Amino acid sequence: MTIEFARTVSVPRPWGVVGGSFPFTTDDDGVAIGEIRYERPGQPVSEPSLLLKILLTSQPLSIQVHPDDAYAQSIGLPSGKTEAWYVVSAAAGAKVAIGLNQQMTPEHFRESVQDGSISTIVAWQPVSTGDVVSVPAGTIHAIGADLVIAEIQQRSDTTYRIFDHGRKRELHVESALAVANAGPMVVQARPLALTDERTLLVSNTHFVFERLRLASGTAWWLEAARETWLLVLGGLAHVGSSDVTTGDAIFAQSDRVNINVGPDGLIALLAYSGVGGPIPHALQRITQAGSPDLKFDETMPEPSSFTAATTGGGNQRKEIIR
Ligand SMILES: [Zn+2]
Repeated sequence: MTIEFARTVSVPRPWGVVGGSFPFTTDDDGVAIGEIRYERPGQPVSEPSLLLKILLTSQPLSIQVHPDDAYAQSIGLPSGKTEAWYVVSAAAGAKVAIGLNQQMTPEHFRESVQDGSISTIVAWQPVSTGDVVSVPAGTIHAIGADLVIAEIQQRSDTTYRIFDHGRKRELHVESALAVANAGPMVVQARPLALTDERTLLVSNTHFVFERLRLASGTAWWLEAARETWLLVLGGLAHVGSSDVTTGDAIFAQSDRVNINVGPDGLIALLAYSGVGGPIPHALQRITQAGSPDLKFDETMPEPSSFTAATTGGGNQRKEIIR
């Protein structure tokens, strides 16, 4: 039974931001912070399998790829890394890259890394606030400058860097070739309204990612049977025993989380582990009498059909959801 107010860890990155941007300001003494990681407080016995972060960029990140579970385990690592991004804010012209704009042979790939042309062969596309991007393991990807992104990912630090914009960090071209789909990705899922309050953003074999919009003054139970992260993007609420506002996160597991929404409503991201798609009754409204009101869109497809729709096709996919 766990409901915890997450602590944050600011991580310096060469492409980060000094001072951050509200509400993700960082106390960084002039150091460029690129990541704000949410962690369980204290000394938890085990780390959550999902890692929630905010990425703050003033320059593009490296072009990179992550291994899947099978490859990671073949070299002694616990897991690969599938990730998904929600664009919290984007400057005009901000962009991300997902996949390549052509299929490449290993030889062509190596050449393009060597002469730097890979930076124009990745498929850049503009993003704006509220966009969602799914990045399955094996997808070559990059995040451009001037973005604030909320990322949910498998807890893994295994990154194979392909191109680093002239920064002098090590590249891992052969490892990247071993795990990457060196070709275009297919546009896939779009956001799917599950109820008036819940929108499914991404569902894969590692996690479900949703956006919640809860009306002012309402009260809810969130069933957090699995490992669950809740990140507030706007508004105020009393969650568990904590008052939360923009930029705060709650970690919960094997528990029922009480949410009392403040006067401005609440917008939040919800991520939870496991296969099988979104949990149908994860969010239940509490009526005045204090009992859950099982108001729910019963027309929602069974979770299995979500899984088929959003995880089929292996890694050959790009998901940009607008
Ligand atoms: Zn990545």
